[in-house]
Amino acid sequence: MKSDPRSPAPVFRRDPERTPAPAVFDSPHSGRDYPEDFRPAAPLAILRRTEDAFVEELYASAPAQGAALIGALFPRVYIDPNRALADLDSSMVDGGWPDAAGGEKAQRGIGLIWRVVPPSTAIYDRLLSQAEVRQRIDRYWRPYQDAVDESLAEAHARDGAVWHVNCHSMPSMGDISAGDPGRKRADFVLGDRDGTSCAPEFVQLVEDTLRALGYSVLRNDPFKGVELVRRNGQPDLGRHSLQIEINRALYMNESTIQKSPNFMRLRGDIGVLIERICAFARERARS
Ligand SMILES: [Zn+2]
Repeated sequence: MKSDPRSPAPVFRRDPERTPAPAVFDSPHSGRDYPEDFRPAAPLAILRRTEDAFVEELYASAPAQGAALIGALFPRVYIDPNRALADLDSSMVDGGWPDAAGGEKAQRGIGLIWRVVPPSTAIYDRLLSQAEVRQRIDRYWRPYQDAVDESLAEAHARDGAVWHVNCHSMPSMGDISAGDPGRKRADFVLGDRDGTSCAPEFVQLVEDTLRALGYSVLRNDPFKGVELVRRNGQPDLGRHSLQIEINRALYMNESTIQKSPNFMRLRGDIGVLIERICAFARERARS
C-alpha cells in the first residue's frame, strides 16, 4: 500500500476466509467517518443523504463465501472514489488546479470533490486549497484505488480471471441529477456500461438471481456504472466489472438513515446473490 504509514488507511479490506473465489466486492460510498478537516457549510443531515448507507453490511458475508470485500470509511462527499482524478471542478480550488480538470460529473457539481448535494445545496462557503485537495487524493482516493487494484490483481493472477462487483445504493425516487426526475426506481439497477464492462453471461446471472428472489431489475437505466467499473472492466482480458445499485427503500428509511425491518431479509438475499456469483466465478475460472 502507498498510503501514509503514520495514519491508518481510511479503507477496509477483508480477504476471503475460505478457499478463495476470483470475486471482489467493493463499496465506495458507504463510509461515514467525516474527517475533521472537511469543514463543509452544509449541515450533516443533508450531507448524509449522499451516503450509500449500510451497503457494506449488506455484502458483509462476502469474505465468508470466499470473496474479497473492500469499503471506504470516509464519505463520498469528502472525495469520491468512483470518479476519475480529472473529473474535478477547478473553480472550487483557490488558484485553480494545475492538473487536468473539468469532467462531465464535475460540471454537474458531483465530480471528484462534490460542490453540491443534489439538487442544489452548496457544500462549501469557501474555496479549497490546492494542498487540501492533494491531501484528499493522496490519503483517501488513492488508497481506495490501490486496495481495489491489488485485490483484483491478486485474484486475476491466481485464477486467470476475476469478477468485480461495484456495490451501491440509490434513492428510491428519480432525480434531475440522474436524468429521471419523479420516476419510481426499480429494486435493482445493474450497470455494465451498456454491455461493455463484463461478459453478458455475468450480468444475466445477476439479473436472473435477483428476479428469482422476487425483485424488479433494470439494466443501465438510469445508472450505467462510473469510474470503478470503467477502469476495471476489461472483459477481453478476463476482468469483468459490474455495478449493482440497490433501491434504498428496500432496506432503510431514506429520511432518517435508519435500517428498516426488511434489512435482514435483504441481507440474506444479497448473501444468496454472493453465493451464486462466487460459484459462477469459480466455475468460469476453471473452464
Ligand atoms: Zn454509490
